[in-house]
Amino acid sequence: MHVKILGSAAGGGFPQWNCACPNCRLLREGTFPGKARAQLQVAISSDRQSWILLNASPDLRSQINQDSDLHPRAAKRGTPITSVFLTSAELDQVLGLLSLREFQSFRVYATRSVQKILREDNSVFRTLNRVGSQVSWVDIEPNQKLTVTNPSAEREPFQLEFIALSSHFPTYVSPERSSQLCARESLLGIVVASASGARLAYFPSVPAIDAALLKHLTSADVILMDGTFWADDELIQVRGEGPTARQIGHVPISGDDGTLKRLKALRATRKIFVHINNTNPVLNESTQQFRQICEAGWELAEDGWELTL
Ligand SMILES: [Zn+2]
Repeated sequence: MHVKILGSAAGGGFPQWNCACPNCRLLREGTFPGKARAQLQVAISSDRQSWILLNASPDLRSQINQDSDLHPRAAKRGTPITSVFLTSAELDQVLGLLSLREFQSFRVYATRSVQKILREDNSVFRTLNRVGSQVSWVDIEPNQKLTVTNPSAEREPFQLEFIALSSHFPTYVSPERSSQLCARESLLGIVVASASGARLAYFPSVPAIDAALLKHLTSADVILMDGTFWADDELIQVRGEGPTARQIGHVPISGDDGTLKRLKALRATRKIFVHINNTNPVLNESTQQFRQICEAGWELAEDGWELTL
């Protein structure tokens, strides 16, 4: 299985356009001991010929342009991107779909509730279905295992398993609308198994670490894990106000109930933090927080990384 990390930051990217926190300011000044990052985008393939996108980031157009494996190959319109799997209706995960609207045929896999939000409540997404040969929407469900065959590699299918993680829809969905939807369809993690048995765990938004999640992470060879915030009160520390990490659906890295402590015993060969918010001190490679994650065997994803498992 080939895995591309085309972007590794949380929503807003790093630096974020309207943020002058110490991280963003120093990065703009050119003195930051760390790297800029586009918004999280991952692509997977069994053969490097056809690619599956895990979510569709707002930076997707430039992320495709910067990677020749994702460019059209024939002397006509086309794409090696066969499908997109959506883990939620969060804007950071779906806005890139609007950049794929050029009358291209591909599949979008999402829960029924996520599809209702996008297709029934937000008319701009109808641009993906202006002609009959455009996007095919496919229902997925929590706990479902789905085998996906790449058109060019029929004997090397992936098996994807979807894990329900939350009962909250994005804040732009009204409470009334949320009450009409199926709560367990709001946020998924994905475990991808290759034909050879290698397992990738993709969990960029994790509101809480429970026994069910631990079981999935324990069996994974490579983990892409929610690294949004270092501390639960990080936004309050940096901005003087705001919600806690847990209030907006992210387990922080530090603390007694944080990721570092709770996931200490995992056997994965690579444990990688993704979806890193611009306020997170781990972005600064001279901090003790960055050293702490490295010493605990974790890596901080960088744009352009490619893994094979
Ligand atoms: Zn910032």
